[in-house]
Parts: sequence; structure tokens; C-alpha cells
Amino acid sequence: MASLELALTLPKQKIEFVLKEDRFFCPVCECVLRRPMQLPCGHCVCDGCISTLFYSDGHGYCPMNPDSCDETFAESEIHQDYGLRRDILSAAVYCPEKENGCAYTSKLQQIERHLLSDCEWRLVNCTFKDKGCDGSIRYKDLQDHISTSCVQAPVVCAFCKLSVSRGQIKEHHENICTEISLSCPYGCGIQSLKRSKMTQHMKECCNRLLPCQYQIFGCAFKGKIDEHKDHEEIFPHKHLEMSVMVVKNLLQEKEKTRIEMKGIAKENQCLRHTVNILTEEIKQVKTFLGIPKNFADIALRQSRSLPTALPTLVEKQQTSIPTCMFVPRTKPPKPRSRHNSSSS
Ligand SMILES: [Zn+2]
Ligand SMILES: [Zn+2]
Ligand SMILES: [Zn+2]
Ligand SMILES: [Zn+2]
Ligand SMILES: [Zn+2]
Ligand SMILES: [Zn+2]
Ligand SMILES: [Zn+2]
Repeated sequence: MASLELALTLPKQKIEFVLKEDRFFCPVCECVLRRPMQLPCGHCVCDGCISTLFYSDGHGYCPMNPDSCDETFAESEIHQDYGLRRDILSAAVYCPEKENGCAYTSKLQQIERHLLSDCEWRLVNCTFKDKGCDGSIRYKDLQDHISTSCVQAPVVCAFCKLSVSRGQIKEHHENICTEISLSCPYGCGIQSLKRSKMTQHMKECCNRLLPCQYQIFGCAFKGKIDEHKDHEEIFPHKHLEMSVMVVKNLLQEKEKTRIEMKGIAKENQCLRHTVNILTEEIKQVKTFLGIPKNFADIALRQSRSLPTALPTLVEKQQTSIPTCMFVPRTKPPKPRSRHNSSSS
């Protein structure tokens, strides 16, 4: 019975009976009857369509034309029709690839096996699908596809005997294959030199165009090795002129740079002088105020223990400042007001 389910998974439009009989088809969905269910009137529907036959009054109605069959029935009166099932399975059908050329016919229950493994017209994937060859091919055309047109199929390079995919062989010949014979691109007449040797030849080829050795001075001439001698003999003055121009420009640049450097040196000297004056002035102010030479170090050390050490430091600084800096007072002020006046 499992083979029936298999055979009937084919889409209905794919099943063509050699002798078509109406009783093989469901009158509701028009598919080949899967599990035919017989109604009391003798007509059959597929099991999936039974629910559509019942109305709200609880009665089932035969789906055939009411003129030919108007029986009603209960669900319990329906049963599977094994005889019809067997007839359908044994009926001869055409291969679903008939329209493409397959003339095979067999019992319905065997047609799927034919379609999956024997049919020459079945669609299959290319053998090199995993390498990127997409699309389906008729099985009968597969070998031809692989040997003539599949871009992912391997082919052997006729020169180096390496295996390369068909889609890559042109690129391989044009740029990679070391054994392929090439003509010298400079047209020296060498016709068939292997690529592995051509690279070296091209460096030495008598037809290769080389730039003039005065190119850095502006000469645009390019010529074959033996043309350079003539060129240098014809253009000695021109080359000298070009060289002189370049040297002249370089000397001018050098002079310009020298003047700029001189200006910078002078500026530098002025700045040094200013720094010296300022340093001297700071020294004098410190001496006048009685600030110790290592004041900066002390302040830094004290600032690390701030805020607790701050009042002590302030007090120390006040005692080291000469008394002439303060307005003389007749009476020593109270500690609180003294603190206020010093901070203002
Ligand atoms: Zn149906
Ligand atoms: Zn009926
Ligand atoms: Zn076939
Ligand atoms: Zn392919
Ligand atoms: Zn090759
Ligand atoms: Zn050459
Ligand atoms: Zn030149």
C-alpha cells in the first residue's frame, strides 16, 4: 500500500492514463483518487474531500449532478474502496516526460521509480553542481554537457597537462600556463618560446623600447637598444641643455633654502635672548620676595598632601614674606580676623 502513496504524490497534471477512466478521478478536486472513499450510492471521492460533502443538517450529499444521483448519507456509511484503489495502481500511464520525448508507459505504481532512476528525459543536476554549475539538465544530455559545455567540468591543459575547469582554461592559457608557446610581444621575430622563458627574453629583447638615460632630465625618447646610440649622438647638445636647466633649478632651490634657514636661525637667537632676560627677571623677583630656590619642589610635595597641609604652607609663606609688605598695625589682630585679612 505504501507504493500507492508514493505513486500518487505526482501532481495530477503529470499523470496521464493510457486509457482514461472517469472513475479514477475525484469529482470534487478532480485529482487522481488518493485513498478512494465510496459513498453508499457507489460514487467515490478522495478522503480529503469527504468533509466538503456534509451540510449543517448533518447529511452528506453526493457531489455528482443531482439529476443523476441525489442520495444523502451519514458519515458512518462511507468506506474505503480497495478494489478501485488496486485498479488505479494497475492502470497504465505515460511517463510524465512524454511531451519531452519519453515514450515509456507502465503501471501507475511503477512510474515514479522509472521517473526517479531510469527515465532518460528526467531532469537532473549537473555532476559539478557543488562547484557552481546550476540549472537542471535532461539525463540523456548530461554527458554531452560535461564533455562539451559545462564551465565547471575539469579539462586537461594541452600544454602543461594540468587539470583546469573549462571556464578557467582561457585565462590559464592567456596568463598562467608556463608551457604554452608565445610570440615575442615586441615583434623581434621569436614565434614559439615557452612562457617560462619568455619573461627573461622580454628583458633582453632587442626590440624592447627603453627610455633614454636622460629621462630624469626630461628627455621623452624611447627606443630599441640599438637606436639609443644614434639618439645620443644626434642629441648631445639637447641632453646637455636639459641637464644644465635641471642643475640651475636645483641651485636656485638651494639658495632659496639657505636664505630661509638663515632667517630661522636669527629668529631662534632672538627667542633665546628673550628667554634669558625673563629667567633673570624671575630670579630677581624670587630673591626680592625671599622665595627659596627650590620653591617649586616644595610646592609640588606639599600639594600632594593637600588639603590638610594647605593651611601650614600658607602660614609658612606668610612668615617668609618681609614685614614691609604688610600695613603696620598697632595691635596684633585676633587669630580669626588675621586669617580673614590674609586671604583677602
Ligand atoms: Zn478529491
Ligand atoms: Zn452518487
Ligand atoms: Zn520517462
Ligand atoms: Zn555543468
Ligand atoms: Zn597549461
Ligand atoms: Zn623579442
Ligand atoms: Zn634622450
